Amino acid sequence: MKASRVEIQTLRLLKDINANHYEAAREAARQGRPVGYVSVFAPAELLLAMDIVSVYPENHAVFVQARKMTTEVVSPLERLGYQPGLCSYARCDMGSTFTGKSPVGGLPKPDFFLTTNAQCSTLTKWFERMSEHFGVPLFLIDVPFTGGKPDDQHCKVFVRSQIAELIGFLEEITGKSLDPENLSRVVEISNQTTRLWKEIIESAMHVPSPISVFDQFISMAPIVAQRGTMVALEFYQTLKAEIDDRVTRGIGVVDNEKYRLYWDSLPLWHELKWLSDLLVSFKACLVSTIYTLPWADFWLDPKDPVSSWVEQYVHYFDWHLDRRVELVVQLKEKYRLNGFIFHNDRSCKMFSTAIPEIRRIVQEKTGVAAYILEGDHGDPRFYSREQIEKGLTYYFEILRARG
Ligand code: SF4
Repeated sequence: MKASRVEIQTLRLLKDINANHYEAAREAARQGRPVGYVSVFAPAELLLAMDIVSVYPENHAVFVQARKMTTEVVSPLERLGYQPGLCSYARCDMGSTFTGKSPVGGLPKPDFFLTTNAQCSTLTKWFERMSEHFGVPLFLIDVPFTGGKPDDQHCKVFVRSQIAELIGFLEEITGKSLDPENLSRVVEISNQTTRLWKEIIESAMHVPSPISVFDQFISMAPIVAQRGTMVALEFYQTLKAEIDDRVTRGIGVVDNEKYRLYWDSLPLWHELKWLSDLLVSFKACLVSTIYTLPWADFWLDPKDPVSSWVEQYVHYFDWHLDRRVELVVQLKEKYRLNGFIFHNDRSCKMFSTAIPEIRRIVQEKTGVAAYILEGDHGDPRFYSREQIEKGLTYYFEILRARG
């Protein structure tokens, strides 16, 4: 029987939610509120509690890529000497800034940049370059590599001192002291949102899965860019209600779901629909991914959010090989997976390091065949649809033959 996809209606709300977010940022900046360009693992609640407008260049780059504007904005940048091997988020963001082309109507000018070197070194250099371009300060949270020892006390003390320094830096920019009550209120909303996101992505444990990884990719924008706001909380309440209803009625995303797959690394933002349709034609549903998991773990201690941020910075980015393998093996049991796709993302070195080795060990430990898909999260010049289609056809033949 032919498989088809059953869409989640709540996702239709996202068009307005995302557009309103960028419009609100421009309006807030017009009214004189300070604007920070921040990376996705910034302490969003702190910035919100201090009435700072947070703009996420990675999130903006996703819109550039999803609207298929990559080539248009990166070609002029590459003519300036920026290499195509550089992260396509970085190239899309800088290309958009230099060309003035944006799918969301442009970003307000920044008053400062905030990032960390824990996520990847690209972010550090990208934000450094952009802070020079705009002539505004860059605050970098320097997180030493713990070598698989997340309880390293020296490291925690060092990161904690920088968060204290960050609060002082933000107070200077806003001209106001941090109001602890305001922070508590934002943390409470943020924690509720994080809990909902966790429940939503874990609902994919149901068979058939009521939500796919593609739906998670599409619906993650508010928890990334608007965590701590009522807009994000209410969106996930509505989404959770629809998902619960689908579970009760046994509605899966993929009709006649046969394969339940894991997806490693970033999405192909410019090909979500095409790839989703292709997998549906094999009766395959992506049910789990490493990429959306962090936001399910960002619960903050309401009495001491600073300690929670320290833990997150020190522990969360320490994705050494053993830890990644262990995670994938655990997810196989949790989500009843019978296949794995590892996206070897050409321009994200952080995620793509050691993919062939991770695949080899995962196959050995689980006894399930895994496929490496060559692609890029945002640059369509780095993959071929034909090659992916052929590779996946072959992969599903293997899975079928192994029963
Ligand atoms: S982690 Fe990867 S995708 Fe994210 S900014 Fe760094 S290189 Fe780019």
